[in-house]
Amino acid sequence: MRKDNIRFVCLRCGLCCMASPISLLPHEILVLNDLAAPLNVKLKFVEGYAVYDRISGVNVALTYHMQLGNNGKCVFLGKNNLCLIHNRYKPLICRSFPYTIKSINYYFDPVAKIAFHRSSYTISLACEFIKKHKSMLEPYLKDEFLIKKFFDDETRYANLMEKYRSMYLLALSYLWRVGYVDLASDARTDRPYVNAYLFIRRYIPYFAIRPY
Ligand code: SF4
Ligand code: SF4
Repeated sequence: MRKDNIRFVCLRCGLCCMASPISLLPHEILVLNDLAAPLNVKLKFVEGYAVYDRISGVNVALTYHMQLGNNGKCVFLGKNNLCLIHNRYKPLICRSFPYTIKSINYYFDPVAKIAFHRSSYTISLACEFIKKHKSMLEPYLKDEFLIKKFFDDETRYANLMEKYRSMYLLALSYLWRVGYVDLASDARTDRPYVNAYLFIRRYIPYFAIRPY
């Protein structure tokens, strides 16, 4: 591989489909539920980050983690490490890998009644392609411009994921400002969880996120 011609090529080793639970946005679990049924795939989701609404008394889940199967692999991982839903709807976190989330911070301003977030990304060293070309890639991976060039599709899907995350927080900010919700940044473990997509649509029926 020439240095001036480096571009990410997935080796289809499937390692990233066995590494950890898959982080999803709220609407993505609805899409995956639809896809899983005809494939006879059983899904298990655990709520991730949630914000508590003092008015309705529920935790509004903004992220979910799809659990790996008993064999330690994603339940959608098929033969020859092929993703069973690749051509239907592959989660944004999978599309963007190995350009992956390093941290997400959520902010809730109770005076201005605004919710927003900041995410940072990194290149995962768990990826087989990165491991293989690590020494050659190292200087390039420090440069944001070159990262975008090498990981053109992956950064594009990551940007889409962050745009959707912002849409959720924008909608919640609107509901907060008009008095339908009263947000407290920490979830309450004694209260039930509600999917943010379904929650927002109770108040804003036209709120829609169309999968790419
Ligand atoms: S959804 Fe597909 S790409 Fe994502 S972890 Fe599962 S098998 Fe891998
Ligand atoms: S670990 Fe990297 S090379 Fe292997 S399947 Fe995942 S993205 Fe592709």
